[in-house]
Amino acid sequence: MQRKDTYVNIMLAVLTPLALGAVWWAASGIGSARIESGVITLTVLTVFCSCYLRIQLPRVSIYLTISDALIMLAILMYGGEIAVMIAVIETAAASVNLMRQGVAIRVKTHLINVSVATLAVFAAAKAVTLIFPSPELILQRGELTSLIWILGVMGLSLFLVNSILVAIYSSIKSERPFWRVWTGNCSDSVMMYLSGAVIAGFLVKAVDQNNLTLFAAVIGGFGIVYLTFRHFVEDVKKTVEKAKQAERARAEQAEGHVHELEHYVAELERSGSALRESHENFRHAAYHDALTGLPNRNFFIDTLRELLQKSRENLESNFAVLFLDLNRFKTINDSLGHSIGDRLIKNVAKRLSGMVRDEDMVARFSGDKFGVILCDLLSKEEATSFADRLARRLAEPYTLDGRQVFTSAKIGIAYGNSKYPEAEDIIRDADIAMYHSKDHEENYVIFDQKMHIRAVTRLQLETDLRFAIERNEFELYYQPIVGLDDSSLVGFEALVRWNHPQRGLVPPNEFIPISESTGLIIPMTVQILNSACKQVVAWQHRSPSGKPLSIAVNLSGKHFGHPALVEQIKTVLSETGIDPSYLKLELTESAVMENAETAILMLKQIKETGVQISIDDFGTGYSSLSYLHRFPIDLLKVDRSFVSAMEENTENGEIVRTVIALAKALKLKVVAEGIESVHQFHQLRILGCEYGQGYLFSKPLPVAEIERLLDDNTRWQNILPASNATVVPQSREVSQLRLAQ
Ligand code: C2E
Ligand code: CA
Ligand code: CA
Repeated sequence: MQRKDTYVNIMLAVLTPLALGAVWWAASGIGSARIESGVITLTVLTVFCSCYLRIQLPRVSIYLTISDALIMLAILMYGGEIAVMIAVIETAAASVNLMRQGVAIRVKTHLINVSVATLAVFAAAKAVTLIFPSPELILQRGELTSLIWILGVMGLSLFLVNSILVAIYSSIKSERPFWRVWTGNCSDSVMMYLSGAVIAGFLVKAVDQNNLTLFAAVIGGFGIVYLTFRHFVEDVKKTVEKAKQAERARAEQAEGHVHELEHYVAELERSGSALRESHENFRHAAYHDALTGLPNRNFFIDTLRELLQKSRENLESNFAVLFLDLNRFKTINDSLGHSIGDRLIKNVAKRLSGMVRDEDMVARFSGDKFGVILCDLLSKEEATSFADRLARRLAEPYTLDGRQVFTSAKIGIAYGNSKYPEAEDIIRDADIAMYHSKDHEENYVIFDQKMHIRAVTRLQLETDLRFAIERNEFELYYQPIVGLDDSSLVGFEALVRWNHPQRGLVPPNEFIPISESTGLIIPMTVQILNSACKQVVAWQHRSPSGKPLSIAVNLSGKHFGHPALVEQIKTVLSETGIDPSYLKLELTESAVMENAETAILMLKQIKETGVQISIDDFGTGYSSLSYLHRFPIDLLKVDRSFVSAMEENTENGEIVRTVIALAKALKLKVVAEGIESVHQFHQLRILGCEYGQGYLFSKPLPVAEIERLLDDNTRWQNILPASNATVVPQSREVSQLRLAQ
C-alpha cells in the first residue's frame, strides 16, 4: 500500500468518528417538533442548489454554489443541529449526483467530503454560539453590527475548517506541501464563503421581516448573478478549451517540427558522412591506380616533389627513380587476352611491392609502365643492385590460368638531386634511360646527360619530321628485285630516305620508328605509295626484259591497323593508274601476327583491290604457322640474316631451305633479301627461290641511277653460271623433304 493511502486512511479514521459525533450531537438536539415545513423547504432547496446550481471555476476544482449560503441561513434560522443535518444530506446528495453523472470518485473521498462538510458546519455553528450565545436574540433585535459579526464568524469558520481539511486531503493526494495547496487552491474561496454569509444575512432579514420583496430581490439578484456568471464561466471554459486545443495543436506541431528537424539533422549527418566517404574515395581514386591499387603517377610526382624540396633544403635525402617497362606486354595482351594481361600486371605489381622497403614507393604510371622511388640510399650501387635483382625477379615465369607466361622489364635509373627543377624531369630522365636499356638490350641503364642530348635530338627529329612531309623532303630509293633463274629485273622495292636540310640523308631506321610513334607514318606512306606507283608506271615501257615491272612498298604495322588504309590504297591505284597486280605491299610478320584474326579480314580487303601482299623479314618475328596458311598472301621475303648465314653452311643456313620448302607448300613465291655473294645467289637458285635482292645486284638507288640501269639489258648476266643459263629449279624432293621435317 502506498504511503498516501495510509495518510488518507488515517484522515478518514480521525474525521469519520468526529463527523459521526457531530451528527450524533445534531440528531440528539433535534426534536421532531423542529422539523417544520421551512426546514424541509430549505433542505430541498439546498440539495437542489448543490446538485444543479453549481458552477466549477475554470482550472481549479472549486465549485461555486449557493448551498453554503443556505446552510448558513439554516444556522441562523434553525440552529446548528438542523444545519449539520442539512449539510450531511446536501453533501451526500451531491455525491450521489456526481456518481450518477459518471464521475469516478472513490468511496473514501465521498466519506471525507461528507465528514468535512459536517465538521465545518458543526464548527461554524459552534463558533457562532460560542461568541454569541443566543444569535436569535440579535436577529430579533435587528442589531446590525452583531449580525455582521455573526455572519463574519460563521463564514470564516466555515471557510477555515473546510479549506484546511480539503487542503490536507489534497496535499496527501498530490504529495505537495500543505501550505502550498492551501494558498494555491483553497484560500481564494474565502470570498465565496463571505459572500455566502452576506446572502444568508439578507435572506434571514427578509424572512425575519416577512419581506417577500427583499427575499425575491435576493433570490432574483442571485439568479441574475448566477446566470451571468455561469454564462461568463462557460465562455471562460470555452476560451480555456480553445486555448488548450491551440496549445495541443502547437505542441503537436512543435513535436512535428522536432521530428522533422531530427530527421533533417540525421539526413544531414548521413549525407555529410557520405560526402566525406566519397571525398575519400575520390582522393584515393585520384592518387591510385584502379587495377593494382598502387599509387599512380600523380601520387608519385607529389612524393618526388617532397623529396626534391628536402634535398634543396640540404636535408639528408639520397634517392633514385627507377622507370620500368615490361617487354612483350602488348603481344601477351593481344594474344592471350586482356584478362591475362591484367592479371600479369597485378602479379608484377605484387612482386614489385614485395621487393621495396616501407619508405620506398612503387607506382603504376600506365599500361605496362611502373615507377619506383628508392629513398635514403647509402650509395648509388644500392640502386643498381636493386635494379638487377628486380629485373631477375620480374623475369621469373608467372603462372596465370594454369599457363606459364614470361615477361621481363627494362629499367632506367635516374638519381635525384637538388638541381632538378621539377619532379617530372627526374621521371623523364629515368624514362630516357629505360629506352636506352631497350636499345642496348641491358636490364637497366643509368641516366647520363648524353642520353638527354640524344633524346632532345629525337624530339627535334620529331618536330622536323612534321615539316618534312609538307616540304616533300622524302626521296625514294629503289632497290632492284631480280628473277633468280635468269637474273632479269622484275621490279623494285621502294625504300624511303629523308633529305634533312641540316643533317643530310637520314636512314629510315632512324626516322621510321619516330614517324610511327607520332602517327606521321600514315601521310608519309600515302606520299610514298603515290610517288612509287607513279614512278614504276613511268618505267613500265623501259623494262629491259619487256616483262612488266613490279613495285614493292613497305607498310608499317601501325598503318596496317588503320581503318582508312583500304580507301587510301584504292585512291592511289586510281590516281596513278598502276595495274594493281604490280603493286606489292610488304608487311612484317609481327604486324600481321599481333592480331591475327583481324589481320586476316584486313588482308582480304586489301587483296580485293588486286594488289599483292608480301610477308617481310620472314623468320625473324613472332610467327605462327597455323595462321600462315590462312593469310591471303602472295610472297614470303626471307630475312637477310638467314641469307647471310647460308655462307657459313651452318644450322642457320638450313632455315632458308625450310622457309623455301614451306613457301612452296603454301604456294607462295619467295624473295630472298640481302644477297651479297654469288655463292648465296647460286644456293638460292638451287633451292628454287624465285626472286632476290641485295647488294650483289644493286644497292637501293635514286631515280636517276635506276634509269641508267634500265638501259642496261645484260646487267646481271655475268653472275649466272656459264654452263647453265637456264637452271632448272631445285627438285621438289628437297623441298618436300624439308617440309616433312
Ligand atoms: P626492309 O624492308 O627489310 O628493307 C631492306 C633493307 O635492307 C633496306 O634498308 C636495304 O637497304 C637493306 N639491304 C638490301 N639489300 C642489302 C644487302 O645486300 N646487304 C645489306 N646489308 N643490306 C641490304 P633500308 O633502306 O635502310 O631500310 C631499312 C628498313 O626501313 C626497311 O627494312 C624497312 O623496314 C624500313 N623502310 C624503308 N623504307 C620504308 C618505307 O618506305 N616505309 C616503311 N614503312 N618502312 C620503310
Ligand atoms: Ca621491305
Ligand atoms: Ca626485309
